[in-house]
Amino acid sequence: MNPTRVEAWRCSKCGRMYGKVPDNPESNPKEFAEDCCKCSKCGRSDEKYLLQGMCRSCGQKACVERYKNAEAKPVDPNEPLVYSEALDKYFNFDELADVWHDHLCDDLGYSDDEVEAEELPIKNILTALRVYTCNANKPHWPGIADIWSDYLPVDSDDGPPGDYEKVDDVMYEYLKNCGPWSYVSSNKKWNGELTKQT
Ligand SMILES: [Zn+2]
Ligand SMILES: [Zn+2]
Repeated sequence: MNPTRVEAWRCSKCGRMYGKVPDNPESNPKEFAEDCCKCSKCGRSDEKYLLQGMCRSCGQKACVERYKNAEAKPVDPNEPLVYSEALDKYFNFDELADVWHDHLCDDLGYSDDEVEAEELPIKNILTALRVYTCNANKPHWPGIADIWSDYLPVDSDDGPPGDYEKVDDVMYEYLKNCGPWSYVSSNKKWNGELTKQT
């Protein structure tokens, strides 16, 4: 073993170390360390943890801007979950009024009466909560033959034994009748409407 001595720079904020990238003589570890905890937007470096390279305030502004420019679409009532980025919360689209009410009372300290006195249009609520539509995750069944092939030698022509297509039929039928198993936020915001049911 032939150890080499390397020079490294440490970020004075979070302590992360930066050394020269061996394949890249141009890399400047001192600069990396200087910029480590610096917000890429405003240059502030008084926060320890950055979100996508930005301080909390700039990150927040970027989220609001992204929401403003996002494409809008209706929610399909068969896939009813929506996501509030501001609250980091998933809920059913028809719970919007409750979620808004709870946010005002529990998070912002308004009383029930104050909340009832101020009825906001749905668009304003959606904007305040930054509500995105969701994509449904439905599980995928690859088929027994696919699963089986993982266990066979590469050059084998053998298939699964027995009447395996029947198993596949049962699985396809079962999954077809299952709703989504989970949801993930899409990058399209909810326009407050529902898709028309045929
Ligand atoms: Zn740092
Ligand atoms: Zn910033």
